[in-house]
Amino acid sequence: MEGSGAGQEREPVHTFAGSDLDRAAHLRSDAERVRELGLGGRGRYLPFRRLEPLVSDRDGAALVWWTDEEARRHTGGIPSEAVFLGLDGTTPCFALAVPPDLYEDPDDPSDPSEARFRGVRDVAPALPAREASIAALGRSLLGWHEAHGYCSRCGRPSLSEQAGHVRRCTGPDCGAVQFPRVDPVVIMLVHRDRQCLLGRAVRARRYPPGLYSCLAGYVEPGESIEEAVRRETREEAGLHVRRVRYHSSQPWPFPSTLMIGCFAEALPGEVRTDPAEIEEARWFSRRQLSEAVERWNEEGVVRLPPPLTIAHQLAAAWLAESPE
Ligand SMILES: [Zn+2]
Repeated sequence: MEGSGAGQEREPVHTFAGSDLDRAAHLRSDAERVRELGLGGRGRYLPFRRLEPLVSDRDGAALVWWTDEEARRHTGGIPSEAVFLGLDGTTPCFALAVPPDLYEDPDDPSDPSEARFRGVRDVAPALPAREASIAALGRSLLGWHEAHGYCSRCGRPSLSEQAGHVRRCTGPDCGAVQFPRVDPVVIMLVHRDRQCLLGRAVRARRYPPGLYSCLAGYVEPGESIEEAVRRETREEAGLHVRRVRYHSSQPWPFPSTLMIGCFAEALPGEVRTDPAEIEEARWFSRRQLSEAVERWNEEGVVRLPPPLTIAHQLAAAWLAESPE
């Protein structure tokens, strides 16, 4: 999604970025105060069940926020694990993990109106951009807590601190702190002459017939973004890269990745894929890419992932950069 009419100076803002919450990091160190800020109806709690936020569909999709009273009623008390997301104006906003069986029964009369817990990726295109970003932030933070209940150094339980932005080991002789992690992934549109290279990953779950995407891979320790682009392009497609150009980035909350979008100009050479990683990779003309961008939602044609992905946006940006 391009920045909303911000003109040429602003960089592109993709889905899952663009929240206007003030993260108010200075408040986190006083978790007690943050909790107090939320009490008495002043705070708003975004409930997540199995990392899926509560979404209402009444007049278009919208996140459903609970007051502290509602949060208590639905969960039997506000758990200390409520994670402070930031201030919306002066209103403190929290993400709250609710029991996995809450509203499991569709006829449960306590189920608030038409609200449902919905997957962040599935509901994102229907949500206002700022809400998709807030949902992504909450999902990543709650997912991190869920997976980091124990100290990675000594194995003892860890506890949430800093209003949910740190976990500290309870071991008296350890006390190691952990911070929410973000894993960098490079994703690159490889191009040469007036063609670009797209592939089909072996492991990806969402690769129905006809779907192609940009090459991508995790940045490894001791590696720059540019080096990761070169290595992945060589490993996955057997091509050497001349020039790497950064374009834009996207937080990807599944579970907590930063997608770093680049253009990579390939040197002459044959495409040789690694069958363990890439099922197929091939060159596409500008016309083919343009069709794949436009027909991303159709089956039975060559197409790209949906517009909410940086892969789609990189392709669209490459086409727009040097129109025919
Ligand atoms: Zn420890």
